[in-house]
Amino acid sequence: MLKGIGASEGIGIGKALKLLNKPIVYEDISPSDPTEEKKRFESAVKVFCDRNEERAKRMDQLGSDGEILRGHTAMLSDPYMLSQMNELIDNGACAEKAVETVCDTFISIFSATDDELTKQRAVDVRDIKKQLQKILLGIEDVDLSRLPPDTILVVEELTPSMTAEMDKKNVAGIVTEKGGKTSHSAIISRSLKIPAVLSVENALALIQSGKDVIVDGGSGEVYTDVDDALREQFLAARKRFAKKAEEEKKFRGKQTVTKDGVVKKLYANIGSHKELEAVLDGDAEGVGLFRTEFLFMDRNSMPTEEEQFEAYKAVAVGMRGKEVIIRTLDVGGDKNIPYMNLKKEENPFMGFRAIRYCLSNREMYKSQLRAILRASAYGNVSVMVPLVTRVEEIREVREIAEELKNELNVKNIPYKKDIKIGAMIETPAACLIADLLAKYSDFFSIGTNDLTGYIMAADRGNADVGYLYSALDPAVLRAIKHIVSSAVKRGISCGMCGEAAADPRLIPLLVSFGLEEFSVNPSSVLSVRRILSKLDRKTCDEISEKALSMENEKEVSAYLSSLS
Ligand code: PEP
Ligand code: MG
Repeated sequence: MLKGIGASEGIGIGKALKLLNKPIVYEDISPSDPTEEKKRFESAVKVFCDRNEERAKRMDQLGSDGEILRGHTAMLSDPYMLSQMNELIDNGACAEKAVETVCDTFISIFSATDDELTKQRAVDVRDIKKQLQKILLGIEDVDLSRLPPDTILVVEELTPSMTAEMDKKNVAGIVTEKGGKTSHSAIISRSLKIPAVLSVENALALIQSGKDVIVDGGSGEVYTDVDDALREQFLAARKRFAKKAEEEKKFRGKQTVTKDGVVKKLYANIGSHKELEAVLDGDAEGVGLFRTEFLFMDRNSMPTEEEQFEAYKAVAVGMRGKEVIIRTLDVGGDKNIPYMNLKKEENPFMGFRAIRYCLSNREMYKSQLRAILRASAYGNVSVMVPLVTRVEEIREVREIAEELKNELNVKNIPYKKDIKIGAMIETPAACLIADLLAKYSDFFSIGTNDLTGYIMAADRGNADVGYLYSALDPAVLRAIKHIVSSAVKRGISCGMCGEAAADPRLIPLLVSFGLEEFSVNPSSVLSVRRILSKLDRKTCDEISEKALSMENEKEVSAYLSSLS
């Protein structure tokens, strides 16, 4: 049995399929016959173009933009690029080397310009180079859109682009080598309701493709020696899990209210307008966190204001007047967007991230805020600012929003006049100055995924310091309590959109602190509603007092686990 982090509950039973990120290594020796080598190169180009067209068609069918891939074919088919590669082969280079030399030249020319569009071409050429070299070397990529039923995917890390291509109905479970409970791999698997175990050391070396595997996404266990008895045991566990889900269904359509009658807001987190169905299906009362960075990822250029407007509007309209909190771009940290040419940083989590990046890239930020403002005319939209550390940041965002509102007024473009602008509290600095930030924020939302990491100085994706990364640590609990009480004192609403908001052990404490809004994965909404229905303030205050008197995480965790 292999052990990792249980990141998405449920039991997956199926056959392993490994996705290897094979290195592109070739021997740089001159071919004996350049004519033959050119033929080899020509057929690789043909495979590239055919494969690209097929993928582009599939993307069109899925409603994505296949033109990006067709652009790659057009670039490669450019006679200049091809003739340069052929010339190098004539002069004794092997095809792999010719591709590398010509592509690298284009990459450095394109990267050196100031023009954003031209810079993005460098990303395209990098992609062309990788694909062509893989074809030449016979490195096959697994076609994620056509998976056999009951596949257990074993990958280094699950990326959003993999998720886009993945044949979700046939994925019974996911095992990754990287990622913690709040990594994007975890969030994606939970929202897809696919059992997942992350951070399984050497999973790719230890699990063989085609082998029977059982994934227990709750306990974090992965079984690779599956006999009949074990299979029976887990088939029964899978049934129990389904039964619990059935019980939670009774809370569908009900109000979210504690046992003593306090009404709470129960919202959902999303990463794309395409998840709207999951939000409605999960019975969330609003969207507490729309992570807009996914709109910017998995493409080769910045989404236009129009594209953003359409995506935000779709959610605003789809939620029919229920609140939709749109978080402005949270780039950097673990979220890289290649065409933005972010510098490689020694310490990206402490670096040029989120609001820091946005305030230095005003035009891009303005176009996002304008798109959100315009979409606000179609529903109950609010704006949320990530990674706030200083009062100036939230004030500056408010000033930009005012400026944009004036522009829209002049053009008679409608928007929600009293649109709320709130701050995410996810840094120790924001926590410590929560009283000051509350003056300039219409609401707070606590981002425990980052807050826990920053308070404990423990990277959320690093398994070695995973033992420190816990929202139940006395330090994090005190931070949360302080943030909520600062909001309560100022009379603004305080929510939580980090993964801890759905943790049954923490919920009694959040009720005691006075948290108003819980924003969780769409699939956790009913479970949180059920938990809240069983709690009253007096009991929660007692639990909270006791938990906060404890000196270490282990004690807190054991105590709270014994109650839930
Ligand atoms: C958080 O940090 O808790 C959060 C919700 O933001 P993200 O996970 O996108 O960083
Ligand atoms: Mg965060």
